[in-house]
Amino acid sequence: MQSKFLFVTGGVVSSLGKGIAAASIGMLLKSRGFTVTILKFDPYLNLDPGTMNPFQHGEVFVTEDGCETDLDLGHYERFIDQNLLRANNVTSGMIYWDVLNRERQGDYLGATVQIIPHVTNAIKEKITALQDQFDFIIIEIGGTVGDIEGQPFLEAIRQFEFQNKRNCLHLHLTLVPYLPSNGEYKTKPTQHSVKELRSLGIQPDIIICRSIVPLTLELKEKIALFCEVKPENVISAVDASSIYDIPLFFAKEKIAEVILNELELENSKPDLAEWENFVTNIHIPNLPIVKIAIVGKYTSFSDSYISVVESLKHAAAHNKCKMEIIWVNSETLTEENVSQELAHANGILVPGGFGDRGIEGMILAAKYARENEIPYFGLCLGLHIAVIEFARNVLKLENANSFEFDTETKHHIIHYLPNQNDKIKKGGTMRLGGYVCKIKPNTLLAEAYKTDEISERHRHRYEFNNSYRKQFEDAGVIFSGTSPDNNLVEVVEMPHNSWFLACQFHPEFKSRPQKSHPLFKNFVKAAKEKAGIQSNLF
Ligand code: GLN
Repeated sequence: MQSKFLFVTGGVVSSLGKGIAAASIGMLLKSRGFTVTILKFDPYLNLDPGTMNPFQHGEVFVTEDGCETDLDLGHYERFIDQNLLRANNVTSGMIYWDVLNRERQGDYLGATVQIIPHVTNAIKEKITALQDQFDFIIIEIGGTVGDIEGQPFLEAIRQFEFQNKRNCLHLHLTLVPYLPSNGEYKTKPTQHSVKELRSLGIQPDIIICRSIVPLTLELKEKIALFCEVKPENVISAVDASSIYDIPLFFAKEKIAEVILNELELENSKPDLAEWENFVTNIHIPNLPIVKIAIVGKYTSFSDSYISVVESLKHAAAHNKCKMEIIWVNSETLTEENVSQELAHANGILVPGGFGDRGIEGMILAAKYARENEIPYFGLCLGLHIAVIEFARNVLKLENANSFEFDTETKHHIIHYLPNQNDKIKKGGTMRLGGYVCKIKPNTLLAEAYKTDEISERHRHRYEFNNSYRKQFEDAGVIFSGTSPDNNLVEVVEMPHNSWFLACQFHPEFKSRPQKSHPLFKNFVKAAKEKAGIQSNLF
């Protein structure tokens, strides 16, 4: 199989949605039966996004093989419904690390080590590593054309195209702004961006233009003329109310046909039925509203919890309800305001997180959920919070805490495993990626998955302390999921008349639009039922 390579670059401004565009194109090609993978090149120097601040960088997405990656990989997985791996996210840091290590080992035989050819060769090797395994390899270059950091990547893809002629296409995403004062759409920024790209030796084959309304034929022809592409290769990318509309918008613009035509491949009929069905469900008017409170410390920047939010959307579509998220900053929750802040929540979700900021507010939220029979869903840190709350308020274990937040307390309900001794380093010291979990029958967990063994993705350092297991069980807590050797607690269910489940893993990384995750599905179902009950009370 000769792979075809689609390079996606962006211009004019950042945040135009290159990731969603790449993911949508992947989805449309996959719907025609082609095999597809998507590779993200991130120009920053970090070795991985693992230790980057979620406020700045958004969520860290974790792959099945335990790699901490850019959140765009989450979009790719959700859109092409396929697990990606370590090889799908490459940063400049990884490239330089690799090149410098090779230099230290003497691999360059004393040559002067340079951006061209050593760095560019290392970049090209990341592309060729995936070659021939897929019909299409889509490569998204992070950042905007003109960024200093992105130059080695652009130079590498220029060389790659030269060496793989007829198998490569360049797609460039730009912005066509609207000037309200004179009622005009402006193509000049696109022209400039393409000029910049061409000065680097890259001629785009397809230009995707973000705009608030579809581009007229006249505008497309103008862009085509100035930028040397065919008018049908200028694709309109209008603002959408849901990211899941984008593949369908692109389908109308015939982007897959254009790609296949340029590469002289035969077109076939896409199968978009499942996707269309999901999109129809999210747009049904007048659905019952379900309000989910997300209680965390990164609530001012929703990209920090993007997979959680998307999983809730998938579950809402599945349950035919409309999701409304109440963002609750746990740092401002107090005994006095907690019942007010959470009064309208039909479900409470405490997502993952690190460090002790906002912890006490999350514990108050878990207590509120337990005492008021509000469905609760704890994800990783959300499990730590739920068991600390139970230990303090039900088992009366004074100052119960996690080793992460209080190294001194007598009751470490959450702790380091005895064999985990690397307590100082922050990078690369976590349980990461897919691990098997054994399920106890007749539990909420078993009801959700309908099987006795699953695998879910992890990203954490601390675990439930087994010396407290008996005490919890005696008080009615169910450890419904454990590692196959029973040594690690994976899922906890609290005595509760509604749905109260917390898991050590991150189910949000595996939810897909057409296949809503079973735990999110059942949590939202419980919240929907709660909404029905609560609305009858008013
Ligand atoms: N901070 C916790 C730990 O390291 C939880 C991590 C998380 O929520 N992903 O174990």
